[in-house]
Amino acid sequence: MYYRKPQYYDDFTCIADRCPDTCCAGWQIVIDEKSLEEYSRVEGEVGVRLQKSIDWEEGVFHQYNRRCAFLNEENLCDLYRELGAESLCDTCRLYPRHVEEFEEVREFSLSLSCPVVAEMILGQKDPVRFLEEADEALEEEDYEDFDTILFDWLEEARAVLFDIIQNRKLSISTRMSLILNIADIAQKALDHGTLLEVSLEEEIQKFLESSNKQKAISETESLEIRKKMLKDLYKLEVLREEWPQLLERLEKQLYAQGEEHYQQIRQEFCRKMQGCAEKKQQWEIYEEQLLIFFLYTYFCGAVYDDMIYTKAVLAVFSVLWIEELAMERWLFQGKKLEFQDLVEVAYMYAREIEHSDENLNLLEEFFDTRTLYSSEKLMKVLEV
Ligand code: SF4
Repeated sequence: MYYRKPQYYDDFTCIADRCPDTCCAGWQIVIDEKSLEEYSRVEGEVGVRLQKSIDWEEGVFHQYNRRCAFLNEENLCDLYRELGAESLCDTCRLYPRHVEEFEEVREFSLSLSCPVVAEMILGQKDPVRFLEEADEALEEEDYEDFDTILFDWLEEARAVLFDIIQNRKLSISTRMSLILNIADIAQKALDHGTLLEVSLEEEIQKFLESSNKQKAISETESLEIRKKMLKDLYKLEVLREEWPQLLERLEKQLYAQGEEHYQQIRQEFCRKMQGCAEKKQQWEIYEEQLLIFFLYTYFCGAVYDDMIYTKAVLAVFSVLWIEELAMERWLFQGKKLEFQDLVEVAYMYAREIEHSDENLNLLEEFFDTRTLYSSEKLMKVLEV
């Protein structure tokens, strides 16, 4: 069995009471069955408190003022304090660590929804590398119907996509367009049963030779596409009540006053954030790190649902929307945006999108079925 993890994985430490937005508030914490059973047997004062603080039918901790019943005033966990780290349920013990399981590989990542992790991911200056380790002691599990050929292809293709994303000689919009283009070609080939005939190197070459000829869509069409994407975001399950308010504020501030207004704001924001070569490079590094994060976490999951293209769209869509939310934040704060604001916007986005299977599935359905998310349309938006 192999383990894979990003190079910064082991650097994570929870900052507990110093966390600006603790994970023990605002979300329902689902308790695994084994922990539920153990909690049901705890005696004494803590046992009584557990009885009262758990919704036993739903298997979740009760919340008071949207805070976990065990989160005390110092933002520390009373359960941890009373019964120790071993008493924590899987969700609390593992978060923000995440694992994707495949037949011979376990891929570990850290969730962007944690403020410390968002800061780690966005703060990486150099291209991120992934470390691999074999653990002979652990036996490989037998995954019935696991498509090893497809998985091997996905792993190799993802490595090629990583090279594209980390190629800092290309503009970030070219890098994003290229991964959409490659994923689109791969999806069509998979659907036609010809995936193994695709030469990614040739496709990349073809794209780079032809990309200069692409025509950007008009600015008006670009805004219309963004508005339609926003409508899709409104359709998702709401995890935190601030989220729809944030989207409404964005709509009002950026979109409600028409095309000219939007473009003026966008141009000024780009000038401020990317006005010189150094700032532009830094901004592109943020976007590169986000793209790598989303592709690393989700791309190989296509082995289970055959949806290659939607995984690439999720990465590009997420970068587009984190940037859009950052622009709104900049405007709202009197045209100021610090690194910490970007961190906050990124983890807020991730909290809504990544922590609901319903949301991830619905977005994939949109990406798969709507022309709005075709590679042609999205590539043109990236060019504006
Ligand atoms: S969000 Fe991250 S840093 Fe904050 S309390 Fe949770 S795990 Fe710790």
